[in-house]
Amino acid sequence: MISPEDIEGLLRPELKTMKAYTPIEPTDVLSQRVEIPQEKVIKLDGNENPYGCSARVKQALANYGYYHLYPDPEQRELRKALEEYTGISSEYIIAGSGSDELIDLVLRLFVEPGDKVINCPPTFGMYPFSTDVSGGKVVSIPRKRDFSIDVTAIKEAIDKRTKVIFVASPNNPSGNVTPEQVILELLNSAAVVVVDEAYFEFSGITVAPLVPKYSNLIVLRTFSKWAGLAGLRVGYGIFPINMVKYLMKIKQPYNVNVAAQVAALESLKDMNYLRGTIKAIVDERERLLTRLSQLDWLKVYPSQANFILCSVLNGKAKTIHKGLQKKGIFVRYFDTPQLKDCLRISIGKPEHTDTLIATLKEMC
Ligand SMILES: *Cc1c(COP(=O)(O)O)cnc(C)c1O
Repeated sequence: MISPEDIEGLLRPELKTMKAYTPIEPTDVLSQRVEIPQEKVIKLDGNENPYGCSARVKQALANYGYYHLYPDPEQRELRKALEEYTGISSEYIIAGSGSDELIDLVLRLFVEPGDKVINCPPTFGMYPFSTDVSGGKVVSIPRKRDFSIDVTAIKEAIDKRTKVIFVASPNNPSGNVTPEQVILELLNSAAVVVVDEAYFEFSGITVAPLVPKYSNLIVLRTFSKWAGLAGLRVGYGIFPINMVKYLMKIKQPYNVNVAAQVAALESLKDMNYLRGTIKAIVDERERLLTRLSQLDWLKVYPSQANFILCSVLNGKAKTIHKGLQKKGIFVRYFDTPQLKDCLRISIGKPEHTDTLIATLKEMC
């Protein structure tokens, strides 16, 4: 038998030193820590949908009779439904176990050890994470002060080993959209441009119709945020046809589980209800923005997504984060060089906004 040390020797060396992804903690863990019952917790740290999924989804999941059968590897029914929803032919579409899986799959398709992937921080942490796991090299091109991407610097950084560029639009955590013109400039390069539209339903802005016209554009979407299905893991991508061929070949055959497919299909049949909750969230975003802007120790960034980023100007971001936690209000705290003293607050229900604002006023 070989020793644990020998196993260390077998490991891929780059994985031993790679930085772990910092996910949010589950509500039950958080609620136990602060000794506040889970149903009283106000969870504004995961950009999840405070209204949950459609009631019809729960009914459809209960009524479904074929959990003992494997799902369709070609995802025909779901892709057809997504064709109707997106207006883009199903041959361009592949579903994944969350869009996180599709990020990983794209990198598996293009990145060999040492290949470069351009990341524009501050942004979604899965891009550098999955790049590291795939053995790629993350090239960071920081966003400008207004969180727009630095196209000139990106273009300068592109070389023969650059395979993929990730742009979240709206961006997480800053909430701003990258205009189509800017995406078009990136598409002029030889790299694959992934536009992550996880928050599309809250912004209404998309470059998806461009996919059939460009051989290097990918658009990613998810049911996690607008449809309230984060826990079921279902997302999709719109890809150039030649990429679909290869992605279909390398994906796990049963990557999207049956429950996730039932839930996604039923969500697409209950758009009237879901459009209502999207509108409630967007309206609430504007109300929260106004309320937060009234606090003179906060700098608030406008958002096209279901969260708002604020910069805490009185140096007490960490104290405020902890203080809110003690009251059972969870928001995301950032303390990276580009996001010094920042909080990202997911949009909740109106009563969540009221409690949050009252608590913030008590604290400062
Ligand atoms: C939340 C989020 C995702 C993750 O989506 P899943 O479908 O739940 O994997 C992808 N991209 C961005 C920018 C996100 O914020």
